[in-house]
Amino acid sequence: MSDPLAAWRLGSEPYYQPQGDECDRFEAAWSRRLPLLLKGPTGCGKTRFIEHMAWRMGRPLVTVACNEDTTAGDLLGRWLLEDGATRWQDGPLALAARHGGICYLDEIVEARPDTVVAIHPLTDTRRMLPLDRASEVIRAHPDFMLVVSYNPGGSRELKPSTRQRFCGMRFGYPDAEDEAEILMREGGVDVEMASALVALGRRTRRLAGHGLEEGASTRMLVRAAQLLRQGMSARDACIAALVVPLTDEAALCDALMAAVDASF
Ligand code: ADP
Repeated sequence: MSDPLAAWRLGSEPYYQPQGDECDRFEAAWSRRLPLLLKGPTGCGKTRFIEHMAWRMGRPLVTVACNEDTTAGDLLGRWLLEDGATRWQDGPLALAARHGGICYLDEIVEARPDTVVAIHPLTDTRRMLPLDRASEVIRAHPDFMLVVSYNPGGSRELKPSTRQRFCGMRFGYPDAEDEAEILMREGGVDVEMASALVALGRRTRRLAGHGLEEGASTRMLVRAAQLLRQGMSARDACIAALVVPLTDEAALCDALMAAVDASF
């Protein structure tokens, strides 16, 4: 029989620079298949972490990027009409629960409330997933694990009735040395350039809360490094990867440009 999770298997080890003992803490949760909440700002490495851990655990990673249009049906599945007959097609959550994958719901808080409620039965000891529309209840595979991510700085909050069902791991931006290492590995820049970008990132993070919602993420710094590698000047790369995406306000734009000019 073909592997229903084949498309979700990771071919090679995703590079992940640990920030502390998070890999050990993940393994403890994994060994009991406890549902896990990864909390931290966008672009700080949560997705890369779970990709790396899924690879280490030898499990496929079924990822869903949640948004305001994500419904319970998108996660659970739907009936399809095929050659005049109807056929049930598992959604990503049902697929992972049935066949034993790690299901990662990225930015769970963005999904509609009925979606969030749909995952509740998988988070208690019964580990079940009712598929009302298919008149079926899936008992989760022993290798199924549910992981969700959440950015506490965002506009929406996760309800206590949901968050209390998870064990949590907090993520922040990597420390300077680790972040420079990531920029060298992912962006292909040398140590001097990586350190200058990291210093700029830190300057922008100090502006967070002073008009700017969040400073430059590690993801943004990686992109700046990648543009630099393509031959762009440091200034242009930072405008494209950091300044333009971070703000629409002229005053904040000036403050960010001043930070860029002070860095290069
Ligand atoms: P999040 O899921 O928190 O929004 P990601 O995991 O997608 O963020 O990280 C964004 C990018 O930043 C990754 O694609 C990777 O290039 C880089 N990155 C961030 N943290 C790390 C890390 N600890 N190790 C390796 N790469 C990282």
